[in-house]
Amino acid sequence: MSQGFGLYQLGEEHDALRAAVRALAEKEIAPYATEVDEAERFPAEARDALVKADFHAVHIPESYGGQGADAVSACIVIEEVARVCASSSLIPAVNKLGSQPIILSADEELKRTVLSEIAAGAGISYALSEREAGSDTASMRTRAQLDGDHWVLNGTKAWITNAGESTWYTVMAVSNPNADKPSRGISAFVVHRDDPGFSVGHKERKLGIKGSPTREIHFENCTIPANRIIGEPGTGLKTALATLDHTRPTIAAQALGIAQGALDAAVDYVRERRQFGQRIGDFQGIQFILAELAMKIEAARHLVYASAATTERGEPESGFRSAAAKTFASDVAMSVTVDAVQLFGGAGYTRDFPVERMLRDAKITQIYEGTNQILRMVMARHLLRG
Ligand SMILES: Cc1cc2nc3c(=O)[nH]c(=O)nc-3n(C[C@H](O)[C@H](O)[C@H](O)COP(=O)(O)OP(=O)(O)OC[C@H]3O[C@@H](n4cnc5c(N)ncnc54)[C@H](O)[C@@H]3O)c2cc1C
Repeated sequence: MSQGFGLYQLGEEHDALRAAVRALAEKEIAPYATEVDEAERFPAEARDALVKADFHAVHIPESYGGQGADAVSACIVIEEVARVCASSSLIPAVNKLGSQPIILSADEELKRTVLSEIAAGAGISYALSEREAGSDTASMRTRAQLDGDHWVLNGTKAWITNAGESTWYTVMAVSNPNADKPSRGISAFVVHRDDPGFSVGHKERKLGIKGSPTREIHFENCTIPANRIIGEPGTGLKTALATLDHTRPTIAAQALGIAQGALDAAVDYVRERRQFGQRIGDFQGIQFILAELAMKIEAARHLVYASAATTERGEPESGFRSAAAKTFASDVAMSVTVDAVQLFGGAGYTRDFPVERMLRDAKITQIYEGTNQILRMVMARHLLRG
C-alpha cells in the first residue's frame, strides 16, 4: 500500500466533518426521526442542533458570517443527516437551494442582508414550481410588476419545501410577459415572510419527508423594495437553473444518506435475526443482496462527491454530472430501501423499524429538483450538443 496517495479519497477535514455531523445526527436528530414522521411535524430539535453547531448552511461564505465550506462538505452534512432523518436533511439542503441564487447573482447589498441572516440561523426556501408549471418551469404565471420603487408580486407558487418555517423566499416570477422567449421574461426576487401580501397555504399530505412542510405560497399584491431583485430583470430563470446545477449534488447526497441508513439498519438486523437455526446474514442469498446494495451505494457516493467537486470548480461538465449524480443516487436510494425492507421480512413492513420510513422518504429524491426523466433529458442534451 502506497502511503500519502491522496487521489480518490477525501481529505482529513472532510473526514472530521463527517465524524462531527454523524455524532450530532445520532445524538440529537435520530431520537426524534420516527416521531417527526408519525406526527408530521417540523424537526425543530434538528434545526436547533444544526444551527447551534453551525451545520445548517455551511456553504455561506465567510464574508457573510458563514463557514465558507466547499460543495463536498455541504453534501457530507446533508448525507449524514439524511442517514438518520431525511426530513431534517432538508434544513441544510433547502438553505443551500434558497440562497444559491443570491450567491450566484445578487448584488452586494442584497447578499449582505440575506446571507448574513441565513448564516445566523434563519431559513430560506426556493420557489420555482407552480401547479401548472412543474417540469415546464418557463410556463409559470406568477407576475412581478415594477411600481415606482417597489415590485408587486401576484400569483401562487406550489410545492415549496419548508414554507412556513423559512424567513426568506427566493421567488421566480414573470416580470416581462412580452419577452421574445418566455424564459427571458422571468426574474428572481427575495421575499421576506413579513412582506405585505405574502402568505403560506396548507400543508401537503405526503408519502414521505413528512417532517418537512411542503406548502403553497401566495402573493396578493405582495410589495417588496425594488432592490430585492436578484440580478438583472429577465435573468431569473437562468439563475434558477444554474442554481440547480449546484444543488442537485445535495439531493444526490440526501438520497445517498437515506440509502446508507437503510443498509446500516439492514446489516444490523440480519446479524441478529435467526431462522432455520442460524443468523439470516449467514445465508448466501442474503449476503448477495447485502453486497449488491453496498456496491450501488459505493458507486453513488463517488458520483455525488465528484459532481459536487465539479460544481465547486465551476467546470462546464457540472450540469451533466449534477444531473447524473442526482438521477443515479436517487435510483440507488429507491432500490436499496425496497431491498432493505425485504431483508427485514414482515418486520420491515411495519413502522416499528426505520426502513419503511426510509423507503417512503427515498421516493421524493427521484422527483424534486428535476424529475429523473427531465434529468435524463438534461444529460442527453449535454451529449448531443456537439
Ligand atoms: C415534496 C416536494 C417538495 C418540493 N419542493 C420544491 C421546492 O422547494 N421548490 C420548488 O420550486 N419546487 C418544489 N417541488 C416541485 C418539484 O420540483 C416538481 O414536483 C417536479 O419538478 C415535477 O413537476 P410536476 O410535479 O409538475 O410534474 P410534471 O412536470 O407534471 O411531470 C409529471 C410526469 O411527467 C414526466 N414528464 C414531464 N415532462 C416530461 C418530458 N418532457 N419528457 C418525459 N417525461 C416528462 C415527469 O418526469 C413526471 O414523471 C417539490 C415537490 C414535492 C413533491
